[in-house]
Amino acid sequence: MPRKKPASYRPTVHNLGSPQGGLLDFGREETYARMNPSLGRKAAALPVYLVNPAQMDRLYPPERRRTFCDPERVRRALRDLRSRGEEGEEDRGLLWEALQDGSECPLFRRTVAAGLYMGSLGGVSKGSVLGLGDPGHQDPGAPPAFQADPGPAIFLCPERIVDWGAREGVPTALVQDKVYYHELAHALMDTADTAPDPYREPWGLVVEESLANWVAASRFKGSEALAVHRLIKGQPPEYLGYEAVSRLAFFSRGPLVRHLLFWEDVLEEVLRLIRRGYPFWEDVLGDVLRFIRRGYWPPFLPFPFPFLPLPLSEKGGLARLNLEAWREAKRRGDWQHPEVKNLWEEFALRLLEEGVF
Ligand SMILES: [Zn+2]
Repeated sequence: MPRKKPASYRPTVHNLGSPQGGLLDFGREETYARMNPSLGRKAAALPVYLVNPAQMDRLYPPERRRTFCDPERVRRALRDLRSRGEEGEEDRGLLWEALQDGSECPLFRRTVAAGLYMGSLGGVSKGSVLGLGDPGHQDPGAPPAFQADPGPAIFLCPERIVDWGAREGVPTALVQDKVYYHELAHALMDTADTAPDPYREPWGLVVEESLANWVAASRFKGSEALAVHRLIKGQPPEYLGYEAVSRLAFFSRGPLVRHLLFWEDVLEEVLRLIRRGYPFWEDVLGDVLRFIRRGYWPPFLPFPFPFLPLPLSEKGGLARLNLEAWREAKRRGDWQHPEVKNLWEEFALRLLEEGVF
């Protein structure tokens, strides 16, 4: 199949009443040229609604933003936890509790609520969101499109995007693309099923926001990447593990990860070769792969040789694998198993640590 041209990734954009909506530009070629096909497909499929700050706060009320406020507090809590030695579930529970006191942090207000991804618009009181729009800046077709839209959708707040760029000395276009890619990353990680969402857990917040920022940041190169790095530095602690997601694996206990990576590649190749005509082996290998993707060595197989070559230099390092594993954990809901939850929580702690120290 021919690759889709970047320009065809363009989303439908509706201004629901943002006076600064005209300052965002979705006609720039580089916005789409930086995307990979999976991001591009999401971009083409999801409408973008431009909303003013009051509308954004109605969609995503400040009391629901469970940001970890103070990086210093995070550092102190992590030091405390580590100094107690081998920490258990209870210690970690206390740490998460201490970090999320439920109050909104004014320091991060503008960077957290610049963009929003919603998997469903079912629970949104659309009339009240529209009522908060500036009528002089509402596209005529926008209200009916919004009213009829079941979701998923992306919301961007031009006022906050412009303001964020001005404060950091970063061009609006770059902030817009960073925020947009971040929200598209949430769409990529939305598995839209009935399993409970681990994003509600404080450690889930750390994993998902770090991965979303990795997806966004990895789209930029050179001086643009530096500018994006500067933007991210102004985000709350749970967003800062974005570089660490490509260095750490969520199941990074000892050398296991390297074996898993190697065997995932090998098995995928074998699976591809035998796909026709050997249903039994396809099933067996499919099972093995499922275990590996969840971060386990399959219990019914002997552990492979410890001296195999390690394919660790692939594009995106471990981030791609972490992202797949996260999607898989959400899709299957298996993060609820205590052992798996333990691995993810430990991973989140490491991301938090790498982000704030
Ligand atoms: Zn996010």
